[in-house]
Amino acid sequence: MIDKNDVMKILSEIDDPELRRPLTELDMVKSVEIDGGHVKIGISLTIPGCPLRQKISDDVLTKVGQLPGVEKVEVDFGVMSEEQRKNLLNRLHGSQNAAAGTHNEKPAGAFAKRVIAVASGKGGVGKSTVTSNLAAALSKMGHKVAVLDADVYGFSIPRILGLSGTPTIIDENIVPLRKGNIQVISMGFFVEEDAPVIWRGPLLHKAINQFLTDVLWDKSDFLMLDLPPGTGDVTLTIAQALPNAELLVVTTPQPVASHTAGRVAKLAEKTNLKVLGVIENMAYYEINGTRQYIFGKDGGKNLATELKVPFLGQIPIMTEIREAADAGLPMAFSDHDDIARYYLDIAEAIVRMKL
Ligand code: ADP
Repeated sequence: MIDKNDVMKILSEIDDPELRRPLTELDMVKSVEIDGGHVKIGISLTIPGCPLRQKISDDVLTKVGQLPGVEKVEVDFGVMSEEQRKNLLNRLHGSQNAAAGTHNEKPAGAFAKRVIAVASGKGGVGKSTVTSNLAAALSKMGHKVAVLDADVYGFSIPRILGLSGTPTIIDENIVPLRKGNIQVISMGFFVEEDAPVIWRGPLLHKAINQFLTDVLWDKSDFLMLDLPPGTGDVTLTIAQALPNAELLVVTTPQPVASHTAGRVAKLAEKTNLKVLGVIENMAYYEINGTRQYIFGKDGGKNLATELKVPFLGQIPIMTEIREAADAGLPMAFSDHDDIARYYLDIAEAIVRMKL
């Protein structure tokens, strides 16, 4: 005789592939009917065209099929009622921040213990590559990481993290995409790659705030924000929405990069964002054991001294770093330890600098 409790127990070990929580916890198990060795399971999907229903079906068929005495398993899909979906969303938002009231009252970014905004003075200095690699390094170290690509005009996080596709939206709530354990949201998931994004201040402000409040983020240790280059509206939006955010400054050693990066850091300080430190990217190129200082020497280090903030490290110019970013698998994920180490060392320093 098959026990319904055993079936429920097995179902509690199966996660919804997008929401990453057990089907039972999400109230997706509508019914369990047992007739001899025949088990019929009713599953309520969050939205009708759930793209991952096949995966849910396969998981249920395999797992329940392994129970002793089970001869045949059937999965019957239905869709949650509006009421059920509302309850589920409330619960998901609630678990982001159990202490807060309704989801609209929830402080932005409350789901993350630390919010780290990555800034640069100008484009092309490797800010997004650093953000992605640090996210990978922190994840590798066992931390739960979320990445919000706030570089709405020049988004490149999807490409560097090798993510494409459109996030599922459940009643205006966006389910982030994932790279391994890293949750990711980018404007790039919602617009064509070469379509121009022409939003101005207020709309931009709204988009960023929406990404902070309407995304079903899991509780995380770190939220990494990839800011647009320069001292634009987005930096101010972030400072307003996330007053506890810490700013990480990325620059090359070149004066034109470090001076503009200095301006961003000073603006951040004016808006009371704490500047965590400076990272010098493209610090040198090593050939036959000799370092070539292509973009000048120590620009980042000097900027840190000037700002009186920690200098967090230098990352050399390396073909492998560029290739890995282009291939959608940042170097910090790789077992190539001598290169991944540049990012792991900085990530470790950031963890130690807990405020
Ligand atoms: P930003 O976000 O500042 O505009 P990106 O992260 O997109 O800059 O980097 C610009 C280019 O430089 C990309 O092609 C990237 O792969 C490359 N890059 C970044 N850091 C390095 C590095 N340390 N070594 C080699 N190439 C790098």
